[in-house]
Amino acid sequence: MERKLDVLIDARTISNRVAELGREISRDYQGRHPLLVGVLKGAVVFLSDLMRSLTVPVEIDFMAVSSYGYSTTSSGVVRILKDLEKSLEGKDVLIVEDIVDTGLTLNYLRENLASRKPNSLKVVTLLDKPERRRVEFTADYCGFVIPDYFVVGYGLDYNEKYRHLPDLCILKGEEE
Ligand code: 5GP
Repeated sequence: MERKLDVLIDARTISNRVAELGREISRDYQGRHPLLVGVLKGAVVFLSDLMRSLTVPVEIDFMAVSSYGYSTTSSGVVRILKDLEKSLEGKDVLIVEDIVDTGLTLNYLRENLASRKPNSLKVVTLLDKPERRRVEFTADYCGFVIPDYFVVGYGLDYNEKYRHLPDLCILKGEEE
């Protein structure tokens, strides 16, 4: 099937919004050293831009969880493929995710990380697709609320393709 990419959010708009999020998060974490937990692989580009827009010092770590694989429909099964390197005890943890869709992944991750006794635990997501929620989930910080499109670019992929695109694009004709 022929694929088509339409720009949904361009690079400049993303950059402005990430800078805003950076200011908001820096204000909220004044005097603290948050640990940013990036969810591999989609959140890598967002995390690297976000951390450079923060004025508070941060540490970073990464987790990998099972995702959709070759289908764009959520299986509802979340599995940890790569865990964090260090303990979260007493830390101010900020989970950095690319997109909240059904909410299953972050719902699971938030509960899992909360059980590791952090001092605080919040979530920042670049994108939110509330129309597809299967469990109730609200991120503490959100870049953009978007309609129910399958999006790629700015770190997000389809079968490992398109992550390098600077804009967030709607992928049509390849998602099923
Ligand atoms: P959830 O568990 O909230 O359904 O799904 C979250 C994960 O699904 C995201 O981290 C991402 O990997 C994947 N996902 C959901 N919607 C999209 C989308 O529109 N584009 C891409 N590339 N991945 C998505």
